[in-house]
Amino acid sequence: FRKVLTWPSQSLKKKSNIVSSFDDSLAQLVGDLYDTMNVLSGVGIAAPQIGIHQRVVLVDAAQCSLEPEPCRIERVPDNIIVLVNPELELSGPKHRWVESCLSVPDSKGQVERFQYVSLKYQTVTGEEKSVELDWPASGVVQHECDHLDGILYIDRMNRFSRDMLCKKIMKRRKRAAEARRLVEQQEKDELDAINGIIRKKPAYGPGKRKKTKKKSPKKNHLNKKRKKKKR
Ligand code: ZN
Repeated sequence: FRKVLTWPSQSLKKKSNIVSSFDDSLAQLVGDLYDTMNVLSGVGIAAPQIGIHQRVVLVDAAQCSLEPEPCRIERVPDNIIVLVNPELELSGPKHRWVESCLSVPDSKGQVERFQYVSLKYQTVTGEEKSVELDWPASGVVQHECDHLDGILYIDRMNRFSRDMLCKKIMKRRKRAAEARRLVEQQEKDELDAINGIIRKKPAYGPGKRKKTKKKSPKKNHLNKKRKKKKR
């Protein structure tokens, strides 16, 4: 499981490189991508989302009605399709639908995508394949392959909606950070109390001295009265 980069990370804007060696390190990358996608329950994931700028995309065939194409990597199940160096040819009418992304957590937005995709790609062993995709699998593949060119779905939203969404995300993050800070402070205070470090005003402050000075004439006064009674 790897950490997923989130907007506005500049790393997500970088264009990814073409994969030229189909070796163990590619299989390792595919395994890591699958584990990450699985833990976060994504429909797909692209290598740049975990900071690896290689043209590799994983798509869950079961979740977007695609024909499964087993990649035969031990820890990756058969329903996961691995697209290495994918090339897309887009056609047909455009569809408007709502997208979300692991790199833009807890948010969604309306995006337009083409209905048909002629997809050429390589498998993890370097074998060349081509497939014709229809909606909605075509939409999922367009989203994931956009990551390889440094494009997020929010970049495809109209400007007004995008600005609104980005402001909302920043506001939510600020609130979450403040809540986290308060919890941390509370935990620290509790720990300090346990350790007996309770923050108090210093014992020998000027305030204390004034109090004792005010008290002393009263005591003297009472003492005088007592003395008078005795006499
Ligand atoms: Zn995404």
